[in-house]
Amino acid sequence: MNEEKPQTNTPEPAAQVQTLVRQEGWTWLINSRKWHYFREGRSLCGKFLLLDDSDLELGNDSSPDNCAACRKKLLAA
Ligand SMILES: [Zn+2]
Repeated sequence: MNEEKPQTNTPEPAAQVQTLVRQEGWTWLINSRKWHYFREGRSLCGKFLLLDDSDLELGNDSSPDNCAACRKKLLAA
């Protein structure tokens, strides 16, 4: 019999290295009503650290809900 085998040879991505948080974007925290912009796990205003970077949003930079200091730094960069 010629049984079909499930393909198990899915190639591993070569450059998948777990290092620092690389994503960036806006998110809000429970202890802050404003949205802060995080880059490499740190808010641009320097007040917050982010452990979970799975829910960052890009764009919407001029929303009134954004932290003013973060926005300033982001737009100045
Ligand atoms: Zn901020």
